[in-house]
Amino acid sequence: MPKPAIVLLLFSLVIVLTVAIMATLPRVPLEAVVIVIDPGHGGHDPGAIVAGVQEKDVNLAIARRVQRAAEGVPGLQVVLTRTEDVYPTLLERLELAEALGAGLYVSIHANYYRDPKVCGVETWVDSNAGAESLRLARELQRALVASTGAADRGVRRQILYLRHTALPAALVEVGYLSCPAERAKLQDPSYQEKVAAGILAGILSFLRAP
Ligand SMILES: [Zn+2]
Repeated sequence: MPKPAIVLLLFSLVIVLTVAIMATLPRVPLEAVVIVIDPGHGGHDPGAIVAGVQEKDVNLAIARRVQRAAEGVPGLQVVLTRTEDVYPTLLERLELAEALGAGLYVSIHANYYRDPKVCGVETWVDSNAGAESLRLARELQRALVASTGAADRGVRRQILYLRHTALPAALVEVGYLSCPAERAKLQDPSYQEKVAAGILAGILSFLRAP
């Protein structure tokens, strides 16, 4: 083969490989965006307590993992409403998101029910939620179920403090502390990592779609 042909072949190969590698990289939002993740409860408000496990601690551990996982996503900045065991009021949490001009708000919770056989993941929106909050909730629910393999209990509506913001906002219930198997998983760092990955994947799906 003549030398120019080899050079051309190698050049083409590099182009093809570059395109192939770029196609496998996760697509990222084109514009920089700040999002706010809220570890539910905190301080004097522990949330659900089952067998010594406090919901506020589970929520914070998962929120921190979401923030860490997002460090690998260019353009995405995650701000937490609390980074320790304190209690900002619900309105203060929303006001933080609005002051930052956040693109969305996701509150993380763990659930409780008197029947220990009830297990699984739910995502909630306010009963007056708009289309964007609903779309965010659907992406979160789908990605969380895919990432964790937990039972899919669907997207639900009720009156929530999220009605006090116009931002796309949803509340994930990442599992039931009253379900013994799920309670054990929610304390396991590798499962927390799956939950966090699911939340991040849902957020990215929401941000990338129009
Ligand atoms: Zn809660």
